[in-house]
Amino acid sequence: MELKEIFLRLAEIGSPCGFEEPMIDHFRSKLEPVTDRVYSTPRGNVIGIQEGTDPGAPRVALAAHMDQVGFTVFNIDERGFVRFRKVGDVANRAIQGQQVRLITEAGPVYGVVGIKPGHVTRPEEANTLPPIEEMYIDVGAWTREEAEVMGVRVGTPIVFDARPLELANDLIASPGVDDKAGLAVLIATARAMKDAAIPSTVYYIGTVEEEEGLKGAGVVLFDLDVDMAVAVDSVPSGWQPDVNMRDVVYEVGKGPAIHIGEMSRTRAWIYHRRLRRWLVEAAEAEGIPYQSGYQLGGTDASAMAQTRSGLPAITVGVPRRYAHSPVELFDLKDMASLVDILVAALKRLGPEFNLLRT
Ligand SMILES: [Zn+2]
Repeated sequence: MELKEIFLRLAEIGSPCGFEEPMIDHFRSKLEPVTDRVYSTPRGNVIGIQEGTDPGAPRVALAAHMDQVGFTVFNIDERGFVRFRKVGDVANRAIQGQQVRLITEAGPVYGVVGIKPGHVTRPEEANTLPPIEEMYIDVGAWTREEAEVMGVRVGTPIVFDARPLELANDLIASPGVDDKAGLAVLIATARAMKDAAIPSTVYYIGTVEEEEGLKGAGVVLFDLDVDMAVAVDSVPSGWQPDVNMRDVVYEVGKGPAIHIGEMSRTRAWIYHRRLRRWLVEAAEAEGIPYQSGYQLGGTDASAMAQTRSGLPAITVGVPRRYAHSPVELFDLKDMASLVDILVAALKRLGPEFNLLRT
């Protein structure tokens, strides 16, 4: 499946929040053959434009974030162990015992996150987690100087080095599904729409720094003539044994999410209801499966909604288990269905589309 190849290539690229350069280059190169114009901004956001045929039709932005959760070198101790901190909210319990890749100027340096032997772990410690300040990466160096010769510096970005695993039933487990899943959907949608000649102009946008406060999305629409925005992201989903389905709406494999709004613990912010109806009607008209519920946590939609004079915005997503770990898991069929919904919805947009809330 073409979509799988697109994703697996994205999964090779490490782009922790604030260190998106390799993904900026890659995403641009994927949009270049299928859009009328692509550029990136000094801040790092990438914008690819497919011009529409009718200036009266709403202009729509589809945005996915190019950063992923990861780490950065905080310091290197005299014995060559690398102390690190997070960029983005990596799940604390997913860090120790993992293989990591330090993306140095001299190329990749591989390491492992060390863990105390059980033999010397006190019983009261055995079922607890050390704070991240006490964790360390072993790159095989015996001294700080040796680590520095290898290219490791304070500020070097770090990602989980797990390879994507193809599991049964079209499931894939990989680091960075959040939001390489969304980027794959954007690339595949842009390819499908390349010769469609629809009324609306479509902006395919890769944003930076989503995982630390939606920062790229907060500024990307400033000088773009956009009427509505759709964030394409992943969404925490259950059906795993340690998640109570009382607390989660979505399941992997039941179709992509067309969210009603986003939930911060117990309170919801509601997405633009006309946009939701537009996407739901497209899915239903084409018989494409989808799920409806609340996104847990914020996405680029909430930042884009507050730009310009206030934009209608919504988030759609690929359901995934094991959020912010090295084994985020999703179903390729959900991803393919999301592409189908977006393609169908874009083709339905015309000058008569009414964005006013009445
Ligand atoms: Zn995300």
